[in-house]
Amino acid sequence: MLCREKLIVALDSPDYDKIISLVETIGDDVFCFKVGMQCFYLFGEKIIREIKKRGHKVFLDLKIHDIPNTASEAVKSLSDLEVDFLTYHLSGGEHMIEQMKKAQENFAPQLRLLGVSYLTSLSMDYIHKIYGDYKIQDLFKLASDYKTDIVCAANDISQQLPHSSYFCPGIRMNQDKSHDQKRVVTPSKALDHGADFIIMGRSITESRSPSQIIKQINKEINK
Ligand code: C5P
Repeated sequence: MLCREKLIVALDSPDYDKIISLVETIGDDVFCFKVGMQCFYLFGEKIIREIKKRGHKVFLDLKIHDIPNTASEAVKSLSDLEVDFLTYHLSGGEHMIEQMKKAQENFAPQLRLLGVSYLTSLSMDYIHKIYGDYKIQDLFKLASDYKTDIVCAANDISQQLPHSSYFCPGIRMNQDKSHDQKRVVTPSKALDHGADFIIMGRSITESRSPSQIIKQINKEINK
């Protein structure tokens, strides 16, 4: 197993040149690049086209959460960019997901939609306080019913689903800082839990040698 098949690198940075240089340095060693809100709001479609021009997949993490019409029109509006993955919040509900899925099928057939469950930056205490019951399995079923993939904490995976793969952020090597993430696991633990893909940002992007970190991750997941 290799980072080339499993690792998605989150490009959260305001420095355009640094982002492009990182993409050129590690592009062949990772599965794809995640463009989040910071990067997309700053650099727009240019950053997506530049990453795609270099032959890499793009995971656009906009976490769409709006009324069905607005959410599905957003999918339609992004169709020209030919991104490979796009996130939405599962809490947006059935009608929003249904309309987004229709827009994806009609206007962006190459696109995989991914439903975000609970953010990995929320502690379990906070989730209980705000959302009441922890309805993770209901959210997963919703994603699978509409044949979309799932973004979740690796610890939340308890079974394989027929129509969904699991993409897990909140990944740290043992020695790493967890920053604002509350529910973190190591790359190998995440894969053991059933993650199909792992998403890592700052542990790689803030390191002096991202290539070296990727080598370490490759070692760790093959132990
Ligand atoms: O730097 P770090 O590894 O914490 O980055 C994780 C990335 O995954 C960030 O870009 C964040 O926006 C994203 N993400 C997350 N938790 C979710 C969904 C996405 O951390 N539930």
